[in-house]
Amino acid sequence: MEDTISAIATALGVGAVGIIRVSGPESLRLVNRIFRAKEPLSSSRPRYLQYGHIHDGKGVDVDEVLAVYMPGPHSYTGEDVVEIQCHGGREALKEILRLTFSEGARPAEPGEFTKRAFLNGRLDLTEAEAVMDIINAKSRRALVAAGRGHKGALSRSIREIRGRLRDLVVHLEAIIDYPEDDIEDVTYDETEGVLQQCYDAVMQLRKKGETGQILREGLRIAIVGRPNVGKSSLLNRLLQTDRAIVSNIPGTTRDIIEEQMTLDGIPLVLTDTAGLRDTEDYVEQIGVKRSRAILEDAELVLVVLDSASPLTDEDRKLLAAVKNRPHLVLLNKSDLAPALSREEVEALSGGDVLSLSVKDGAGMDQVGIHLRHFVMGEGSDAEMGLMTQNARQGMLLEQAAHHLAETLRDARAHLPYDCLTIDLTQVLHELGEITGDDVPEEIINEIFAQFCVGK
Ligand code: GDP
Repeated sequence: MEDTISAIATALGVGAVGIIRVSGPESLRLVNRIFRAKEPLSSSRPRYLQYGHIHDGKGVDVDEVLAVYMPGPHSYTGEDVVEIQCHGGREALKEILRLTFSEGARPAEPGEFTKRAFLNGRLDLTEAEAVMDIINAKSRRALVAAGRGHKGALSRSIREIRGRLRDLVVHLEAIIDYPEDDIEDVTYDETEGVLQQCYDAVMQLRKKGETGQILREGLRIAIVGRPNVGKSSLLNRLLQTDRAIVSNIPGTTRDIIEEQMTLDGIPLVLTDTAGLRDTEDYVEQIGVKRSRAILEDAELVLVVLDSASPLTDEDRKLLAAVKNRPHLVLLNKSDLAPALSREEVEALSGGDVLSLSVKDGAGMDQVGIHLRHFVMGEGSDAEMGLMTQNARQGMLLEQAAHHLAETLRDARAHLPYDCLTIDLTQVLHELGEITGDDVPEEIINEIFAQFCVGK
């Protein structure tokens, strides 16, 4: 039988209310020994808050509390759970926690409540991992996407794909094992059809997850351009549109400014290499290791040009440097008389070019719309299905896609069925590891160890 665990479930710090969570077969009896109220915290009214006091067993009241008993299996962990809401100061929380320990509970490990929920079948692995994404969400969209994962969107899609592949494997194996029987033959064409559809579905999931990842971690944008084109002004203007700047990370060096903001619910991490303005040739500076690292690290590069002065060699070199990366060219200072040819810029950049004036704000909306499209894709359908995926899930999806592509190639080459089933078994295993249907215990432990204590 499982032991009973206990931990502070709220953030440690001063707050109005703090919660201590106790889970396991002894939780009710254990809390009843330190809880004094009109009636004992009984199973007669589960899930009702009860007013009372926590005492230390020697007649001293520790705090005035509300306690609630949630019998398993209809609780977060699937076990009997008691939660005690006390005053949110450190001392009250720590003292009550200590009392639960002295009555026999053991300190919960990080993520142990959620791990128990998983082991008891309350959540599958992706749903459990989404709990952490919900807690760590940095924007509303990230929260919504994590919520979708929590409701099992990723698992459902994966189980569907896995089901189709399993049917195929079973069928192929039957043909291999009982060639003399009259089993309806699947043709290579049919096999290819199923494999192609499953491959497409896995790739589509991965794509959604990549966008979801941006929602988790923020889209990394580098703002580049030669001195005085308006990079700092642009950065400041963007930051002003953000009512809730998440944080202001001081640059790792004095040259580089990194800011976080959300635009229309999308977290952005903006890097301005403005500190390099004093150097002679900006593009040469791009050659400097650090600034190149910023460019390479960026998922989108904003190239700022001064439309009121003719294109310089530096500008041309810069456009060539970003040509093969996702980028957006901004022709700034549209409030002044134009002095460069938009056609030339378009030809050099091979990407989108927008005119704007950071000074009077003209065209700033377009920048926002463009960033939003970059993250979400066109239309709102893409947004509907967004879901967060963590690195583990993304990697497994990529492996599964890779093995599916190999199997597809083998099927096209009409390799024997048993060659196909060997690869497909691997794919089934990879997909199963995502949902937790087929996952080694060490991995489970590793995943939950990343959670915070009390979750
Ligand atoms: P950076 O060196 O690229 O970071 O450029 P700054 O942001 O420091 O801007 C250089 C100069 O251009 C400043 O004097 C800004 O006020 C001016 N500037 C920036 N944006 C605009 C704009 O849209 N129109 C005009 N007329 N001036 C601008």
